[in-house]
Amino acid sequence: MTLTSTQNQMKLKRIFIQNQIPEQLAALTRMSHNILWSWMPQVADLFMSIDPEQFVNLNYNPVALLENLAPARLRELSEDKDFLARVHTAEKAFDAYLAEPMKQGLPRVAYFSMEYGLHISLKLYSGGLGVLAGDYLKEASDSNVDLFAVGLLYRYGYFNQGLSMNGDQIHNYPPQKFTQLPVEPVRRDDGNWLKVAVTIQGRIVQAKIWSLAIGRIKLYLLDTDHEDNNAEDRALTHQLYGGDNEHRLKQEILLGIGGVRAIEEMGLNPDIYHLNEGHAGFLSLERLKNYVDAGLTFPEAREMVRASSLYTTHTPVPAGHDHFPEHLMRNYLFNYAADLGIEWEEFMSLGRLNADDAGEDFNMSKLSIRLSQRVNGVSKLHGEVSQEMFTSLYPGYTAEEVHIGYVTNSVHYPTWIANSIHELFSSKFGKDWVRDQSNKEIWRNVHKIDDRSLAETRHALKVKLLGYVRKKLQVDMRRRGESPRTTFEILSKINDKALVLGFARRFATYKRATLLFTNRDRLRALVNRKDQPVIFLFAGKAHPADQGGQDLIRQIVQISKEPDFAGKIIFLEDYNMEMAKLLTQGVDIWLNTPTRPLEASGTSGMKAALNGTVNFSVLDGWWAEGYRPDAGWALPLERTYDDQYLQNELDAETMYSVLEDEIVPIYFDKDKHGISKRWMGYVKQIIAEVAPVFTMKRMMDDYYERFYLPLGKSAAAVRESDMKPGKDFAAWKEDIESKWSGLETIENNSFDTVNHALPVGEPFSAEVVLTTNGIEPADLALEALFYQRIDEERLTLRRTQPFQLVAQTEGTATYRIAVDPHLAGVYEYGFRLRPNHPMMPHAQDLNLVYWV
Ligand SMILES: *Cc1c(COP(=O)(O)O)cnc(C)c1O
Repeated sequence: MTLTSTQNQMKLKRIFIQNQIPEQLAALTRMSHNILWSWMPQVADLFMSIDPEQFVNLNYNPVALLENLAPARLRELSEDKDFLARVHTAEKAFDAYLAEPMKQGLPRVAYFSMEYGLHISLKLYSGGLGVLAGDYLKEASDSNVDLFAVGLLYRYGYFNQGLSMNGDQIHNYPPQKFTQLPVEPVRRDDGNWLKVAVTIQGRIVQAKIWSLAIGRIKLYLLDTDHEDNNAEDRALTHQLYGGDNEHRLKQEILLGIGGVRAIEEMGLNPDIYHLNEGHAGFLSLERLKNYVDAGLTFPEAREMVRASSLYTTHTPVPAGHDHFPEHLMRNYLFNYAADLGIEWEEFMSLGRLNADDAGEDFNMSKLSIRLSQRVNGVSKLHGEVSQEMFTSLYPGYTAEEVHIGYVTNSVHYPTWIANSIHELFSSKFGKDWVRDQSNKEIWRNVHKIDDRSLAETRHALKVKLLGYVRKKLQVDMRRRGESPRTTFEILSKINDKALVLGFARRFATYKRATLLFTNRDRLRALVNRKDQPVIFLFAGKAHPADQGGQDLIRQIVQISKEPDFAGKIIFLEDYNMEMAKLLTQGVDIWLNTPTRPLEASGTSGMKAALNGTVNFSVLDGWWAEGYRPDAGWALPLERTYDDQYLQNELDAETMYSVLEDEIVPIYFDKDKHGISKRWMGYVKQIIAEVAPVFTMKRMMDDYYERFYLPLGKSAAAVRESDMKPGKDFAAWKEDIESKWSGLETIENNSFDTVNHALPVGEPFSAEVVLTTNGIEPADLALEALFYQRIDEERLTLRRTQPFQLVAQTEGTATYRIAVDPHLAGVYEYGFRLRPNHPMMPHAQDLNLVYWV
């Protein structure tokens, strides 16, 4: 018999066989579909106990776990009385949490971010920015506020990191199975899946909307990877931070414009839009368009959008902000100008520093600043750096006057605390104390915990970490093809008694991961001290396009194989949130060595602090606020050298000295029980005095107090009576703008400063007469400003004093001031006029000044 060509072809069809979860275990399925399980240890332990090995292999994903369980095991569990009792208790706690009603009377916030770090099993994050957003949403749930979030659902997300034997980074992109994620389709009233369309180069791209439950709140995710779209558009939501600049532009169109459309379709009506980084900046364009469609002029629409927008910037280097050349903007967003009723040039100027500079790219942070009434950095120092960075947007003002504020980042306590440490705290901190987690008084009870219990609990965490390290190295090194002998040599040197230091974060070059290796001889001596073993653990991914970052990884991997450093310097591949937990909880010292002032905040050190892991870090970002000499160590804030190479060398030498002279001797200064009292002093102080300040509740409270509540008020104010106040305010601004260039000084009878030194304590006065060009004097504020010079280019403001309006005639205004000089010194001063209106939240809200 001869076979025809079709007979031997495989003929396959797809079938999906779903696990039948027994009725008694239905609560498990339900709990697996709300990421709340991950920060309720009671529930997390339950999933872990079902099959610890499989759970870990499945990235701690309970949906996947339940789907993969053998029917026999399911049956067994459904008949296990003990287990069922635990399910019941956990379910009660879970439901009680969810049932608590939302706080009333707060503005509703829509939070936009390109990434969310919620859990290792949800590949929606790359690093700190995402983890911050994820932690924030969890706290929004815990604090029970009216907030929801918008993002993208990635098929592949950010890459998983592998390493070659040489230490070359390998990028793996396993796809996520959406059926195994705790996401649900958002449906229309008619039962159909809710989709929104965005136009990309004339094509309609459809995004499906999913929702992800984070305790009591929702994260809505857009997904274009489905059959409605062509292959190119499907790839839009494949990777996080993948592809070129054009790809990024398309993703940001989807996030911002698609996100606003999704919110509308769902009828969510937020009061405030919070842009977590500039990636979401296009959302403001879509909002402008909606107002213009509703009959507002462009200036009116802009007022409405500004009054309800907060932009949080995270990047202290200008080059780190997304920007797109004009031809790309033209290709993708050309119609927006016409839709908004403005010229293309005016549209482009929304994202430019100079309206007239046709060569300038369209910058997302400039756009976001222009269309947000409030802007903030993410630590006190970063707020100042941001003021400096954006000063050029506000000619006539010095950096410290720029309206940008700050909220220092934080971490979500229940996510990052080790269970054993939490139990120890709870034994002394009182009932329900986590709700009041930012209260230092509570944390000071850590001094009631005896040194020994705390030291032993912490030691157990280190043993757990090192157990994980050994196992991971064994698996990873075998896969890389390392010889069993090298592997054995390294593993045999990992000593549980060692002082363990950790450094793990994105391998961006400014983080200076290899600073420690500046002087190999000194490092060699340090890690090979007799009876005082020291281990350094490293982990982190470099962006696939960042060759510099990948070089650093290679360098560390290669050093880790040298005989003197084997088992002392260890690089762990594929840093992720679970590894971050183990590391920040288990090491003794958390290291951070960024180039100042490029660490906007940093959060991993805070995760460490919660758990009593002492920090040793550059006084940059959060540590500049958190550091105390009795709670950790620091490299000074001030730069000594302009030359980065020399600065690195100095920092490295300082670091060795601190390690040699302080950290190592104090750690090993142990009593007969093996405990170093001095060391425990540091551990307790970082818990008592530092940790509470960097808890998410503090950060959330700050956002409400400094930004959401004032914005909620301004948003409501402009909306009143059919948006009349907003329209009037816009009209007022237009009027002032049109008249501003006609302001003139008629008289300026200033202090005689040229011929006399003025004595301290003796008041002097000045009088100014202006032509107001039809502007009401009440709409103007005249101030005297006294500066001191820092260098040729920069001034610092020492004093501001308002003039009094003393007379006005048709067309003129007369102002007077009496200044009481109370500090001696050389000053430069000037008289500056600016617009003034009760609805202006800050001086730069109408960005005009006139120097008399
Ligand atoms: C916390 C965290 C970060 C942020 O680390 P920084 O030290 O703030 O840079 C990055 N990646 C992961 C996986 C984290 O958990």
